[in-house]
Parts: sequence; structure tokens; C-alpha cells
Amino acid sequence: MRGERRFRIPRFSRTAAQVQARPPWSCARRLERAAASDAMNVFQGHTGWLEVICGPMFSGKSEELIRRMRRGMIARKRVQVFKPAIDNRYSSDEIVSHSDLRIPSQTVNSAREILELLEIRSELIGIDEANFLGPELPEVASRLADMGKQVIVAGLDTDYLGRPFEPIPSLLALAEEITKTLAICMQCGGPAKFTQRLVASDDLIVVGAAGLYEARCRRCFEAGSPRQHALDFVKPGSGKV
Ligand code: ADP
Ligand code: ZN
Repeated sequence: MRGERRFRIPRFSRTAAQVQARPPWSCARRLERAAASDAMNVFQGHTGWLEVICGPMFSGKSEELIRRMRRGMIARKRVQVFKPAIDNRYSSDEIVSHSDLRIPSQTVNSAREILELLEIRSELIGIDEANFLGPELPEVASRLADMGKQVIVAGLDTDYLGRPFEPIPSLLALAEEITKTLAICMQCGGPAKFTQRLVASDDLIVVGAAGLYEARCRRCFEAGSPRQHALDFVKPGSGKV
């Protein structure tokens, strides 16, 4: 009979007139809201995520890592922070920035050790001085992200000759988000992308900070300088890289 079968009209259905009457900005606003909620889901759901903070020495990589880890703590996330054993110059159980910001950390001898020390419920994993953790770090960081962790890695992207410094370039390829930090050139005050070694050594890794290295811009950076002279080895313990 006519009128007996009634379909429920969904609440979201609107007449053409109603749709036309809606203000033109509402669609854009809905898209904005959807994008924002997608971004939130990455952090609140179980989707893993890899962030890389890279740049020369003194550019604020550790400061930025510490800032992001602190925000995670404020959000009551379970946090674990790692740094390589080679970097125990200021403290063996803290990450310390050149501006003396600090955050507790665990020391590892290799990237694999991060997996051994991992507490399964940790949500936010920070890794500082990643350039000392070797070629296994990209695989380890990917694995953590695949497990649903938010992983934040900080490290030097170029060596003392200005060459790409593994494993950071590989991590950049794998990351969801990349932040490049710049320092201040100690020669001219411009934005500094390079780390100038001030002591003579051909070793790729010479651990130290002020006095051994300084930040330089592209114009002031001297890749081949200083050349190898008498000094073969600079002892760790003389400052923070
Ligand atoms: P990174 O981890 O990149 O080596 P840090 O986060 O440890 O850098 O330190 C950044 C801090 O270093 C700056 O906030 C500033 O206080 C100090 N600093 C010293 N030299 C410089 C420089 N040439 N350019 C910028 N900051 C410098
Ligand atoms: Zn300069």
C-alpha cells in the first residue's frame, strides 16, 4: 500500500537547496579537520612513525630531540631515550645539549642493543648521536616504527669533509618527517650547514666539541683543512660532539 514502506532518511542527507545554502568555506574546513585528525591518529593510534633531526654540530639537534621527548612525557607517553656509548663525555646516563639541557638516557654499544633494551610498552623512542650507531640503525629504527613506535633520531648528516655521513642519509630515505637544523657560522655569522674540524686528523670520528670543531657556512667551510699533521688521535672526553 502506498505510504506503508518508509525508508529512514539518513540524518546527513540534505536537499540540493540546503547543500547550496551552506557557506563556501565549510568544505575546506571539513577537509582541514580531516587532515588534522589523520595527523593525530598517527600519534594516538598504533601507526609507527620515524622522524629524523639532522644538521651540523651546534645546530640544536639535541635541544630539538630533548624538546620533542619532553612533550611526549607531558602527553604521558612511555618514553625511552638512547645514545651511543662513545658519547659519554658530559654524562653517561643523560643526553646533554651544548646549552646544557638534559634528559635521562640509556647507553648502547650498537643499534641492535636498542632492541635488547626496548621495553615493549614504550611509545616514544629517542636516539641521539645516531651517526655513531653504525649501518644497522636504519633497519632497527624501521623495525621500531613497524612495531608502532614513534621514533625520533638525531645525528650529523655530513662528516668533517662535508660528505654524507651514514647512517643518516639512509634514515632520511626511510623517515616520515625530516628536520634540518642550521648552526651559526663562527667565521661570518651566517647560517652554517657544515662542521669544520679544527684539529689535524684523518680519522672519520674524532670525539669532541668546542676547540675541535666549529660550525661553518658553505662559503667559510674548508673541507681539506687542516691537513693531517702529527696528531693522530684525540681522546674522547674533551666535550660534547
Ligand atoms: P647539536 O646537538 O646540533 O650539536 P645542541 O642542541 O647540543 O646542538 O646545542 C645547540 C646550542 O649550542 C645552541 O642553542 C647554542 O646555545 C649553542 N651553540 C654553540 N655554538 C653555536 C653555533 N655556532 N651556532 C648555534 N648554536 C651554538
Ligand atoms: Zn661563514
